[in-house]
Amino acid sequence: MKIPSFIILAAALACSITPSTFADDQPAETAPKAEGPSGKQTIEIAGGKYECTIDTSETPDLTSWTEKELAPVVKEWYPKLVELLPSEGFEAPAKISIVFKKDMRGVAATGGTRISCAADWFRPNLEGEAKGAVVHELIHVVQQYGRSRQNNPDATRAPGWFVEGLADYIRWYAYEPQSHGTDIVLRKPERAHYDSSYRVTADFLNWVVGNYDHDLVKKLNAAAREGKYDEALWKQYTGKTVQELGDEWKTNLSARAAAVGNAPETSKINRLTEAQQKEGWKLLFNGKDLSGWHNFKTNTVCEGWQVKDGLLACIDPHNAGDLCSQDEFGAFELQLDYNISVGGNSGIMYHVTEKGRAAWASGPEFQLEDNKKAGDPIRCGWLYGLYQPPIDPSTGKPLDATKSAGQWNHVRLLVTPEKCEHEINGVKYFDYVIGSDDFNDRVAKSKFAKMPLFAKSKTGAVTLQGDHGQVSFRNIMIKTFDSK
Ligand SMILES: [Zn+2]
Repeated sequence: MKIPSFIILAAALACSITPSTFADDQPAETAPKAEGPSGKQTIEIAGGKYECTIDTSETPDLTSWTEKELAPVVKEWYPKLVELLPSEGFEAPAKISIVFKKDMRGVAATGGTRISCAADWFRPNLEGEAKGAVVHELIHVVQQYGRSRQNNPDATRAPGWFVEGLADYIRWYAYEPQSHGTDIVLRKPERAHYDSSYRVTADFLNWVVGNYDHDLVKKLNAAAREGKYDEALWKQYTGKTVQELGDEWKTNLSARAAAVGNAPETSKINRLTEAQQKEGWKLLFNGKDLSGWHNFKTNTVCEGWQVKDGLLACIDPHNAGDLCSQDEFGAFELQLDYNISVGGNSGIMYHVTEKGRAAWASGPEFQLEDNKKAGDPIRCGWLYGLYQPPIDPSTGKPLDATKSAGQWNHVRLLVTPEKCEHEINGVKYFDYVIGSDDFNDRVAKSKFAKMPLFAKSKTGAVTLQGDHGQVSFRNIMIKTFDSK
């Protein structure tokens, strides 16, 4: 059956992208003179499996940018996007086109396999969000949700917020996680709703994937592509309705927003909201003094640790030592913010007992460091010497969600007998099970193999490492779970 053209038009997705601050900060690039080669460039992708035509005949001033900057991204990322969103029997479109238009409004739009880009928006954003905006459109090409409706009159239509949220989820968490594009939702967490679309929904999807089902996005994408998207699938895959998940995510979002200081008042640091208190969160640091803390195997605190402006700060690493919580914790979730100095190195240890000669002899360590300048090859967020995050395809290096030295970062550390999780700035790194075969194998191959007390205690102090560099902490909050 031939498809009437109005249906294809209706399937076009217009995308408006909220500009983020880093894009606003970019100076507008001066467009080169409209000379040189104009017209169409054809890129062969994945050894000829796919082909993309980039058409700048209306906007020859953009040709050199599309050739130098955009074409390599399309070539590298189109096959990756196809791989990230698989479904049974699905073959991604083999021929796609990207057309730059001189009179188009908005940002970009996709209909079927054709991406249209508004040159007026792209010109001032070439060094900012331009490539990511095209990646977002390429994801629409890979989604191909319109296809099922062409053959199946009963096909359901996935809601727009989900279609756009998924595209932004892949863009911000797979293509450019270093941009922190979804942090925008932390500015007004009270206004965020799971179906707010784009980055807000992307943040929601990332949260549900990390907390409920690693393959959720893949499964929902497959359903949408087959014309079988149904809200009931959320409950089927996660045990909760999308509304329930949305409420839970919102609570988490408020905590993260308060943590990064984007809450309406800065006086909110080291305070728990009513909702957090109800959920059982407790502060480990009161923001005023060092009560509840002591140095390893002492009842005192060295002068290198100071409380200043509501921060627990290691200001002199030569006279600080490891700082242990008075209370001991077995199964818990810890959240805190840290701000590390250039080249700084610190860490959060847990299940620390006083039996060892040092805190690290018993307690596994969530490493903290300035990933850019610190010398330790164990990077921030890794479980020291044992676990590290997966390779980030956009950098070829282990995933790195940290912000530069001097900025606040949010840590989430879950420690339970069933599962432990490491997360930085809302990006989950990995999980592991203490005492599992995999865990024990890794310990056996590490420097901890010689430490009989290492990771053996089921409870112990939370300990902040204070002898490797300047670091500040705030909003240190903990929620304990009943041991099962
Ligand atoms: Zn879109």
